[in-house]
Amino acid sequence: MIDSEFNFNPEWPCLDEDVRDALFAMASDGSWGRYHGPHCQALSRALSEFHSVAHCHLTCSGTAAVELALRACGVSSSDEVILSAYDFKANFVNVLALGALPVLVDVTHDTPVIDLTKLEAALSPATRAIVVSHLHGFHAPMRDLMQLAQARGIPVIEDACQNPGAIVDGRMAGTWGDAGILSFGGSKLLSAGRGGAIVTSRPELTQRLQLHTQRGNDAYPLSEMQAAVLLPQLKRLPNRNQIRAASVQNLIGQFSQNAVITPVVISEGAQSSGKETPAYYKLPFLLQTSPSAEVKQSLVDAYHTASIVLSPGFSALHRIHARSRYRAAGELSCAEDFANRLLTLHHPVLLQPERTIAELAKRILDITTIRL
Ligand SMILES: *Cc1c(COP(=O)(O)O)cnc(C)c1O
Repeated sequence: MIDSEFNFNPEWPCLDEDVRDALFAMASDGSWGRYHGPHCQALSRALSEFHSVAHCHLTCSGTAAVELALRACGVSSSDEVILSAYDFKANFVNVLALGALPVLVDVTHDTPVIDLTKLEAALSPATRAIVVSHLHGFHAPMRDLMQLAQARGIPVIEDACQNPGAIVDGRMAGTWGDAGILSFGGSKLLSAGRGGAIVTSRPELTQRLQLHTQRGNDAYPLSEMQAAVLLPQLKRLPNRNQIRAASVQNLIGQFSQNAVITPVVISEGAQSSGKETPAYYKLPFLLQTSPSAEVKQSLVDAYHTASIVLSPGFSALHRIHARSRYRAAGELSCAEDFANRLLTLHHPVLLQPERTIAELAKRILDITTIRL
Protein backbone atom coordinates (compact mmCIF):
# COMPACT_ATOMS: atom_id res chain seq x y z
CA MET A 1 0.00 0.00 0.00
CA ILE A 2 2.80 2.33 0.87
CA ASP A 3 4.33 1.54 -2.50
CA SER A 4 1.46 3.05 -4.46
CA GLU A 5 2.19 6.23 -2.58
CA PHE A 6 5.73 6.55 -3.93
CA ASN A 7 6.78 5.95 -7.49
CA PHE A 8 10.51 5.20 -7.50
CA ASN A 9 10.47 3.90 -11.05
CA PRO A 10 8.38 6.24 -13.22
CA GLU A 11 8.13 5.74 -16.97
CA TRP A 12 10.70 7.35 -19.21
CA PRO A 13 10.22 9.22 -21.43
CA CYS A 14 7.57 10.85 -19.25
CA LEU A 15 4.20 12.08 -20.46
CA ASP A 16 4.71 15.37 -22.24
CA GLU A 17 1.87 17.27 -23.87
CA ASP A 18 4.21 19.14 -26.16
CA VAL A 19 5.65 15.88 -27.48
CA ARG A 20 2.13 14.57 -28.01
CA ASP A 21 1.20 17.75 -29.86
CA ALA A 22 4.31 17.48 -32.03
CA LEU A 23 3.41 13.90 -32.95
CA PHE A 24 -0.16 14.95 -33.68
CA ALA A 25 0.91 17.80 -35.90
CA MET A 26 3.24 15.47 -37.79
CA ALA A 27 0.47 12.98 -38.36
CA SER A 28 -1.59 15.74 -39.95
CA ASP A 29 1.00 17.39 -42.16
CA GLY A 30 2.81 14.26 -43.35
CA SER A 31 6.23 15.54 -42.31
CA TRP A 32 6.80 12.33 -40.36
CA GLY A 33 7.27 10.41 -43.59
CA ARG A 34 9.67 12.71 -45.44
CA TYR A 35 13.39 12.46 -46.02
CA HIS A 36 13.79 16.20 -45.68
CA GLY A 37 11.13 17.97 -43.68
CA PRO A 38 11.40 20.95 -41.39
CA HIS A 39 12.16 19.13 -38.13
CA CYS A 40 15.79 18.00 -38.53
CA GLN A 41 16.75 21.43 -39.76
CA ALA A 42 14.96 23.09 -36.84
CA LEU A 43 16.53 20.71 -34.31
CA SER A 44 19.99 21.16 -35.75
CA ARG A 45 19.59 24.93 -35.53
CA ALA A 46 18.13 24.77 -32.00
CA LEU A 47 20.99 22.58 -30.75
CA SER A 48 23.59 24.86 -32.36
CA GLU A 49 21.99 27.87 -30.67
CA PHE A 50 21.61 26.09 -27.34
CA HIS A 51 25.31 25.19 -27.38
CA SER A 52 26.46 28.42 -29.07
CA VAL A 53 28.33 26.44 -31.72
CA ALA A 54 28.51 26.90 -35.47
CA HIS A 55 27.45 23.38 -36.49
CA CYS A 56 25.33 20.50 -35.34
CA HIS A 57 25.35 17.23 -37.23
CA LEU A 58 22.47 14.89 -36.35
CA THR A 59 23.13 11.14 -36.29
CA CYS A 60 21.30 7.87 -35.67
CA SER A 61 22.94 7.34 -32.24
CA GLY A 62 25.51 8.69 -29.82
CA THR A 63 27.70 5.72 -30.63
CA ALA A 64 27.58 6.54 -34.35
CA ALA A 65 28.33 10.17 -33.46
CA VAL A 66 31.52 9.14 -31.63
CA GLU A 67 32.54 6.92 -34.53
CA LEU A 68 31.98 9.72 -37.03
CA ALA A 69 33.84 12.21 -34.87
CA LEU A 70 36.79 9.81 -34.63
CA ARG A 71 36.76 9.44 -38.43
CA ALA A 72 36.51 13.19 -38.87
CA CYS A 73 39.57 13.54 -36.63
CA GLY A 74 41.38 11.25 -39.05
CA VAL A 75 41.62 8.21 -36.79
CA SER A 76 42.45 5.03 -38.68
CA SER A 77 44.40 1.81 -38.20
CA SER A 78 47.80 2.08 -36.47
CA ASP A 79 46.60 5.17 -34.59
CA GLU A 80 46.11 5.37 -30.84
CA VAL A 81 43.13 6.96 -29.12
CA ILE A 82 43.25 7.89 -25.44
CA LEU A 83 40.28 7.32 -23.19
CA SER A 84 39.56 6.70 -19.55
CA ALA A 85 39.56 3.13 -18.22
CA TYR A 86 36.16 3.88 -16.67
CA ASP A 87 33.98 4.75 -19.65
CA PHE A 88 31.05 3.70 -21.81
CA LYS A 89 32.01 0.46 -23.49
CA ALA A 90 30.92 1.64 -26.96
CA ASN A 91 33.56 4.39 -26.90
CA PHE A 92 36.24 1.71 -26.53
CA VAL A 93 34.69 -0.53 -29.20
CA ASN A 94 34.39 2.44 -31.59
CA VAL A 95 38.15 2.89 -31.45
CA LEU A 96 38.66 -0.81 -32.20
CA ALA A 97 36.13 -0.62 -35.03
CA LEU A 98 38.37 1.88 -36.79
CA GLY A 99 41.33 -0.47 -36.40
CA ALA A 100 42.95 1.87 -33.86
CA LEU A 101 44.28 1.02 -30.40
CA PRO A 102 42.55 2.32 -27.25
CA VAL A 103 45.04 3.64 -24.69
CA LEU A 104 43.53 3.54 -21.23
CA VAL A 105 44.21 6.17 -18.58
CA ASP A 106 43.09 5.87 -14.96
CA VAL A 107 40.42 8.07 -13.38
CA THR A 108 41.16 10.25 -10.37
CA HIS A 109 41.01 8.93 -6.86
CA ASP A 110 37.74 10.70 -6.06
CA THR A 111 35.91 11.17 -9.38
CA PRO A 112 35.06 8.69 -12.13
CA VAL A 113 36.62 10.89 -14.84
CA ILE A 114 40.03 10.93 -16.50
CA ASP A 115 43.07 11.80 -14.36
CA LEU A 116 44.87 14.56 -16.21
CA THR A 117 48.10 14.02 -14.29
CA LYS A 118 48.28 10.58 -15.89
CA LEU A 119 47.35 11.64 -19.37
CA GLU A 120 50.70 12.97 -20.43
CA ALA A 121 52.40 9.61 -19.89
CA ALA A 122 49.79 8.01 -22.17
CA LEU A 123 50.71 10.11 -25.20
CA SER A 124 52.80 8.63 -27.98
CA PRO A 125 53.67 9.65 -31.53
CA ALA A 126 50.70 7.50 -32.61
CA THR A 127 48.14 9.42 -30.47
CA ARG A 128 45.51 10.66 -32.90
CA ALA A 129 42.65 11.72 -30.64
CA ILE A 130 41.41 11.87 -27.05
CA VAL A 131 37.88 10.79 -26.11
CA VAL A 132 36.78 12.22 -22.79
CA SER A 133 33.42 11.62 -21.08
CA HIS A 134 31.54 13.52 -18.41
CA LEU A 135 30.09 10.71 -16.34
CA HIS A 136 27.42 10.37 -13.68
CA GLY A 137 27.27 14.09 -12.91
CA PHE A 138 31.04 14.54 -12.73
CA HIS A 139 32.95 16.77 -15.11
CA ALA A 140 36.20 16.03 -16.90
CA PRO A 141 38.83 18.76 -16.39
CA MET A 142 38.23 20.31 -19.81
CA ARG A 143 40.14 23.57 -19.47
CA ASP A 144 43.47 21.93 -18.67
CA LEU A 145 42.80 19.00 -20.94
CA MET A 146 42.20 21.27 -23.93
CA GLN A 147 45.36 23.21 -23.15
CA LEU A 148 47.40 20.03 -23.06
CA ALA A 149 45.81 18.63 -26.23
CA GLN A 150 45.97 21.85 -28.21
CA ALA A 151 49.65 22.30 -27.39
CA ARG A 152 50.21 18.97 -29.11
CA GLY A 153 47.68 19.33 -31.90
CA ILE A 154 45.58 16.39 -30.71
CA PRO A 155 41.81 16.71 -31.27
CA VAL A 156 39.48 16.09 -28.34
CA ILE A 157 36.08 14.41 -28.61
CA GLU A 158 33.98 15.45 -25.61
CA ASP A 159 31.27 12.93 -24.75
CA ALA A 160 28.37 14.88 -23.20
CA CYS A 161 25.81 12.09 -23.70
CA GLN A 162 25.14 11.96 -19.96
CA ASN A 163 24.90 15.67 -19.26
CA PRO A 164 23.24 17.76 -21.95
CA GLY A 165 22.82 21.31 -20.74
CA ALA A 166 25.33 20.98 -17.88
CA ILE A 167 27.81 23.79 -17.31
CA VAL A 168 31.38 22.52 -17.18
CA ASP A 169 33.86 25.06 -15.87
CA GLY A 170 31.76 27.94 -17.18
CA ARG A 171 30.90 26.46 -20.58
CA MET A 172 28.16 24.16 -21.76
CA ALA A 173 29.07 20.48 -21.83
CA GLY A 174 30.11 19.42 -25.32
CA THR A 175 31.48 22.82 -26.32
CA TRP A 176 35.01 22.49 -24.90
CA GLY A 177 36.10 19.69 -27.20
CA ASP A 178 36.84 19.96 -30.90
CA ALA A 179 33.68 17.87 -31.23
CA GLY A 180 30.95 17.38 -28.60
CA ILE A 181 28.76 14.28 -28.56
CA LEU A 182 25.08 14.05 -27.61
CA SER A 183 22.85 10.99 -27.35
CA PHE A 184 19.08 10.76 -27.77
CA GLY A 185 18.87 7.09 -26.76
CA GLY A 186 15.74 5.81 -25.04
CA SER A 187 17.04 6.25 -21.50
CA LYS A 188 18.69 9.62 -22.02
CA LEU A 189 17.64 13.06 -20.73
CA LEU A 190 16.67 13.97 -24.31
CA SER A 191 15.10 10.90 -25.85
CA ALA A 192 13.91 9.90 -29.28
CA GLY A 193 14.42 6.20 -28.57
CA ARG A 194 17.56 6.44 -30.69
CA GLY A 195 19.64 9.26 -32.03
CA GLY A 196 22.63 11.46 -31.45
CA ALA A 197 24.44 14.58 -32.54
CA ILE A 198 27.87 16.11 -32.96
CA VAL A 199 28.27 19.76 -32.07
CA THR A 200 31.34 21.61 -33.26
CA SER A 201 32.60 25.01 -34.27
CA ARG A 202 35.39 23.60 -36.43
CA PRO A 203 34.59 23.95 -40.13
CA GLU A 204 37.17 21.33 -41.15
CA LEU A 205 35.52 18.75 -38.89
CA THR A 206 32.09 19.59 -40.28
CA GLN A 207 33.46 19.16 -43.77
CA ARG A 208 34.94 15.76 -42.98
CA LEU A 209 31.72 14.69 -41.26
CA GLN A 210 29.92 15.40 -44.51
CA LEU A 211 32.49 13.37 -46.37
CA HIS A 212 31.92 10.33 -44.16
CA THR A 213 28.14 10.51 -44.08
CA GLN A 214 27.24 11.58 -47.59
CA ARG A 215 27.12 8.49 -49.72
CA GLY A 216 24.61 9.87 -52.13
CA ASN A 217 22.39 9.74 -49.09
CA ASP A 218 22.93 10.35 -45.37
CA ALA A 219 24.45 7.12 -44.04
CA TYR A 220 23.76 7.69 -40.32
CA PRO A 221 20.56 9.75 -40.27
CA LEU A 222 18.23 11.00 -37.60
CA SER A 223 14.65 10.96 -38.90
CA GLU A 224 12.19 13.82 -39.11
CA MET A 225 9.99 12.00 -36.61
CA GLN A 226 12.80 11.79 -34.06
CA ALA A 227 13.72 15.43 -34.53
CA ALA A 228 10.13 16.52 -34.01
CA VAL A 229 9.86 14.89 -30.56
CA LEU A 230 13.25 16.21 -29.47
CA LEU A 231 12.47 19.87 -30.08
CA PRO A 232 9.94 20.27 -27.23
CA GLN A 233 12.21 18.25 -24.91
CA LEU A 234 15.13 20.58 -25.58
CA LYS A 235 12.93 23.51 -24.51
CA ARG A 236 12.19 21.78 -21.22
CA LEU A 237 15.72 20.57 -20.57
CA PRO A 238 17.07 23.49 -18.50
CA ASN A 239 14.08 23.43 -16.18
CA ARG A 240 14.14 19.65 -15.82
CA ASN A 241 17.88 19.71 -15.15
CA GLN A 242 17.17 22.18 -12.33
CA ILE A 243 14.47 20.00 -10.81
CA ARG A 244 16.76 16.95 -10.96
CA ALA A 245 19.61 18.89 -9.36
CA ALA A 246 17.31 20.03 -6.53
CA SER A 247 16.25 16.42 -5.94
CA VAL A 248 19.89 15.38 -5.80
CA GLN A 249 20.60 18.05 -3.18
CA ASN A 250 17.61 16.86 -1.23
CA LEU A 251 18.76 13.25 -1.49
CA ILE A 252 22.31 14.02 -0.41
CA GLY A 253 20.99 15.77 2.69
CA GLN A 254 19.57 12.44 3.89
CA PHE A 255 22.93 10.64 3.91
CA SER A 256 25.69 11.13 6.46
CA GLN A 257 29.31 11.21 5.33
CA ASN A 258 30.15 7.84 6.81
CA ALA A 259 27.01 5.93 5.84
CA VAL A 260 27.45 2.48 4.24
CA ILE A 261 26.43 4.10 0.98
CA THR A 262 26.55 7.76 -0.05
CA PRO A 263 25.61 9.69 -3.16
CA VAL A 264 28.65 11.49 -4.57
CA VAL A 265 28.57 14.71 -6.58
CA ILE A 266 30.73 17.67 -7.50
CA SER A 267 31.56 19.64 -4.34
CA GLU A 268 29.09 22.27 -3.18
CA GLY A 269 31.80 24.90 -3.35
CA ALA A 270 32.45 24.25 -7.03
CA GLN A 271 28.71 24.29 -7.74
CA SER A 272 27.97 27.48 -5.84
CA SER A 273 30.66 29.31 -7.82
CA GLY A 274 28.26 28.91 -10.77
CA LYS A 275 31.02 27.44 -12.91
CA GLU A 276 29.92 23.85 -12.45
CA THR A 277 26.25 22.99 -12.91
CA PRO A 278 25.86 19.26 -13.31
CA ALA A 279 23.08 17.45 -15.15
CA TYR A 280 22.08 14.07 -13.80
CA TYR A 281 21.47 11.14 -16.12
CA LYS A 282 22.81 8.71 -13.52
CA LEU A 283 23.44 9.72 -9.93
CA PRO A 284 26.41 7.80 -8.52
CA PHE A 285 26.44 6.21 -5.07
CA LEU A 286 29.61 4.86 -3.52
CA LEU A 287 29.68 1.89 -1.19
CA GLN A 288 31.93 2.41 1.80
CA THR A 289 33.81 -0.79 0.98
CA SER A 290 34.26 -2.97 -2.07
CA PRO A 291 31.66 -5.78 -1.90
CA SER A 292 32.16 -9.24 -3.40
CA ALA A 293 30.42 -9.80 -6.74
CA GLU A 294 27.78 -11.93 -4.99
CA VAL A 295 27.02 -9.36 -2.32
CA LYS A 296 26.83 -6.61 -4.91
CA GLN A 297 24.42 -8.65 -7.00
CA SER A 298 22.21 -9.39 -4.00
CA LEU A 299 22.18 -5.68 -3.15
CA VAL A 300 21.16 -4.71 -6.66
CA ASP A 301 18.48 -7.42 -6.68
CA ALA A 302 17.11 -6.05 -3.42
CA TYR A 303 16.96 -2.49 -4.76
CA HIS A 304 15.22 -3.66 -7.91
CA THR A 305 12.71 -5.72 -5.92
CA ALA A 306 11.86 -2.47 -4.14
CA SER A 307 11.48 -0.76 -7.57
CA ILE A 308 14.60 1.30 -6.91
CA VAL A 309 16.61 1.60 -10.12
CA LEU A 310 20.04 1.58 -8.52
CA SER A 311 22.35 -0.52 -10.67
CA PRO A 312 26.07 -1.16 -11.18
CA GLY A 313 27.93 1.54 -13.10
CA PHE A 314 30.32 0.68 -15.92
CA SER A 315 32.85 -2.13 -15.80
CA ALA A 316 36.48 -1.06 -15.94
CA LEU A 317 37.37 -1.42 -19.63
CA HIS A 318 40.57 -3.35 -18.98
CA ARG A 319 38.57 -5.91 -17.00
CA ILE A 320 36.23 -6.78 -19.86
CA HIS A 321 38.63 -6.75 -22.80
CA ALA A 322 41.66 -8.88 -23.65
CA ARG A 323 45.04 -7.28 -22.97
CA SER A 324 45.88 -7.38 -26.67
CA ARG A 325 42.98 -5.02 -27.40
CA TYR A 326 44.35 -1.98 -25.55
CA ARG A 327 47.43 -0.37 -24.08
CA ALA A 328 47.29 0.54 -20.39
CA ALA A 329 48.97 3.82 -19.53
CA GLY A 330 50.09 2.89 -16.02
CA GLU A 331 47.97 1.46 -13.24
CA LEU A 332 44.21 1.56 -13.63
CA SER A 333 43.33 0.83 -10.02
CA CYS A 334 41.06 3.84 -9.40
CA ALA A 335 38.91 2.88 -12.40
CA GLU A 336 38.64 -0.60 -10.99
CA ASP A 337 37.76 0.68 -7.54
CA PHE A 338 34.96 2.81 -8.97
CA ALA A 339 33.69 -0.09 -11.05
CA ASN A 340 33.54 -2.20 -7.86
CA ARG A 341 32.05 0.31 -5.45
CA LEU A 342 29.86 2.47 -7.62
CA LEU A 343 26.12 2.12 -8.13
CA THR A 344 24.11 4.52 -10.25
CA LEU A 345 20.55 5.71 -9.75
CA HIS A 346 18.61 6.16 -13.00
CA HIS A 347 17.31 9.70 -13.43
CA PRO A 348 13.48 9.46 -13.91
CA VAL A 349 12.81 9.32 -10.15
CA LEU A 350 14.58 12.67 -9.78
CA LEU A 351 11.51 14.42 -11.25
CA GLN A 352 9.33 12.97 -8.47
CA PRO A 353 8.06 15.05 -5.50
CA GLU A 354 10.31 15.85 -2.54
CA ARG A 355 8.69 13.33 -0.21
CA THR A 356 9.32 10.54 -2.71
CA ILE A 357 12.99 11.49 -2.77
CA ALA A 358 13.13 11.49 1.03
CA GLU A 359 11.51 8.06 1.18
CA LEU A 360 13.86 6.82 -1.52
CA ALA A 361 16.88 7.84 0.53
CA LYS A 362 15.51 6.06 3.58
CA ARG A 363 14.90 2.85 1.67
CA ILE A 364 18.28 2.86 -0.03
CA LEU A 365 19.93 3.21 3.38
CA ASP A 366 17.75 0.50 4.93
CA ILE A 367 18.29 -2.02 2.16
CA THR A 368 22.04 -1.41 2.00
CA THR A 369 22.49 -1.66 5.74
CA ILE A 370 20.61 -4.95 5.91
CA ARG A 371 22.49 -6.52 2.98
CA LEU A 372 26.04 -5.46 3.79
C1 LIG B 1 24.46 6.75 -23.84
C2 LIG B 1 25.88 7.08 -23.99
C3 LIG B 1 26.48 7.16 -25.27
C4 LIG B 1 25.77 6.91 -26.58
O1 LIG B 1 24.80 5.96 -26.54
P1 LIG B 1 23.82 5.66 -27.78
O2 LIG B 1 22.84 4.71 -27.18
O3 LIG B 1 24.64 5.06 -28.86
O4 LIG B 1 23.19 6.94 -28.22
C5 LIG B 1 27.81 7.50 -25.32
N1 LIG B 1 28.52 7.77 -24.22
C6 LIG B 1 27.99 7.72 -22.98
C7 LIG B 1 28.84 8.04 -21.81
C8 LIG B 1 26.66 7.37 -22.83
O5 LIG B 1 26.13 7.30 -21.59
